[in-house]
Amino acid sequence: MFESIKKKFSGEGDEPTSSTGKPDISREKSAELYAKAKTFFPGGVNSPVRAFKSVYGTPLFIKKGDGCHIWDADDNQFIDFCGSWGPLILGHNHAKVREKVIDVIQHGMSFGAPTALENELAELIVKNNKFIEKIRFVSSGTEAVMSAIRLARGFTKRDKILKFEGCYHGHTDSLLVKAGSGLITFGETSSAGVPKSFADETIVVALNDKEAITKAFEEFKDQIAAIIIEPIPANNGLLLQEKEFLQFLRETCTKNGALLIFDEVISGFRIGFEGAAGYYHIKPDIITYGKIIGGGMPVGMYGASAIIMSNISPDGSVYQAGTLSGNPVAMGAGIAQLTELLRMGFYRDLNNKTEEFTEAIQRFATARNYKFKVFTIGSIFWFAFTDQEVIRRADEIDASGMEKFKKLHRELLNRGIYLGPSGYEVGFISSAHTKIDLEKAKRAIFDSLEVVFKGK
Ligand SMILES: *Cc1c(COP(=O)(O)O)cnc(C)c1O
Repeated sequence: MFESIKKKFSGEGDEPTSSTGKPDISREKSAELYAKAKTFFPGGVNSPVRAFKSVYGTPLFIKKGDGCHIWDADDNQFIDFCGSWGPLILGHNHAKVREKVIDVIQHGMSFGAPTALENELAELIVKNNKFIEKIRFVSSGTEAVMSAIRLARGFTKRDKILKFEGCYHGHTDSLLVKAGSGLITFGETSSAGVPKSFADETIVVALNDKEAITKAFEEFKDQIAAIIIEPIPANNGLLLQEKEFLQFLRETCTKNGALLIFDEVISGFRIGFEGAAGYYHIKPDIITYGKIIGGGMPVGMYGASAIIMSNISPDGSVYQAGTLSGNPVAMGAGIAQLTELLRMGFYRDLNNKTEEFTEAIQRFATARNYKFKVFTIGSIFWFAFTDQEVIRRADEIDASGMEKFKKLHRELLNRGIYLGPSGYEVGFISSAHTKIDLEKAKRAIFDSLEVVFKGK
C-alpha cells in the first residue's frame, strides 16, 4: 500500500485534546468558509492535500499574499513555506510578475491562436537550457507528464513505463500506480477508477534499487518505453538520490532503447535554471516542467530533442492539444518570473540563504538530541522526525514521525509559520524570504520543536 499517498489524501484532521504551547489561532472565518465549501466540493477542496486531513484543524482559507507572507480569512499572518506548492520562487504578488500579467490582460485573455508571448517564454527557456531543443506548453504538470508518456510510447513504439515508488507525477491514470509486494511489480492502482489494464503497463520499483531495474529490463525486454523519475524526489519527503543512480538510469535506458524522462515539475527552475538535469549533469530524453514556469499561473511544459519532439502533432503522429495551451496571461507571468531567475547570483543567494536556515535548525535539534533531521537541496527542505542520516527510498520513511509532524504543524501555525499540511510535503524558500523573516521563522521553529519534543 502506498502509505504516504493514502495518508496524504485520507485520515481525519482531529480536534484539539489539550492546548500545548501557544493558544490556537482563531480559525472562525476559515471554518465558516470550509463548511460552505464542503457543500460544493468533495472534502471542501479542489485538490485533496489542501483539506488538512493529516494535520490539526480546519484548512486555512487564504485571502492575500505578499512577499513571503500570507494572510488567512481570520487575518492571521504567516510566513509561508508552501509557496503554492512550489511555483512562487519569487514569493507572493511579485511586482514584476503582477505588472506583466496586468499588462497582458489588457489586450485580452485568450485567442486560441499563436501569440508572440509563447515565443518569448520558449526562447527564455530553450536558450538557457542545454538539455532540450523543442518544447510544448500545456496547462499543468499532470498534463505535461501525461503528454511526455504518450510521446515516449509513440517514439519507441513500446507500451510499458517504469516508475518509482515514492515519486509523484500528477494524477495521470497510468501513474496512479503503486508497488505491489516483490522486487519488480506490475503496479496496483492507487486510485479507484484506474483500469487494471492501465496499471499493467506500469512497472513500479523502489528508488535506489539498481537490481530491480536490471531485472525489469530483462523480464520485459524491448517492451519498456521509458523510465520516469523525479530526479529530485520531493513529493513524498525529500528522497535525494545519488548521482550515480541517476547515471545508471541514463545508461540503462540508452542500452535498452528506452527513453529517460525527468519529471522536473518541482525541481525545474528550483534547483537552478536547468533543474536537476543541470545539477547532476545528466541528459534525460524528455523533461517535464510545471509549477515555477508559470509564475503562479497554470502552465506546464515538456521538451526534448528536435528529433523526439518531431513526433508530436501536427509534425508527427502523437496527438496532443490544448484550448488554453500557451495562454497569453500565463505566458506573461512565466516570462516575468523566469527573467528574474536569470539574474546573476539569483540561485546562489537563494540557496545560500536556505543552507544557513536549515543548518541552524539542524544544529538546534542535534544539540538537544532531538530525533529530527532537515533534508535539503537548493531552496527545498523537508523536516523528518528520524535519526536516519539518509533516506533514499519511500519505504525507509518512518511513518510514526508523522504524528510529531502534526503537532509541529499546529505549533508553527500558532507562531505564524505556514507549512504544507502534511509531513510528506517539502517546504520551499523564496527570494522574498528576508534574513529577518528567516530569523523569526527559526525562532518559531525552535520553540515549536521544544514543545513537540518536551510536551511543554
Ligand atoms: C506537482 C507535480 C506534478 C503535477 O503537477 P500539477 O500541476 O499539480 O498537475 C507532477 N510531477 C511532479 C514532480 C510534481 O511535483
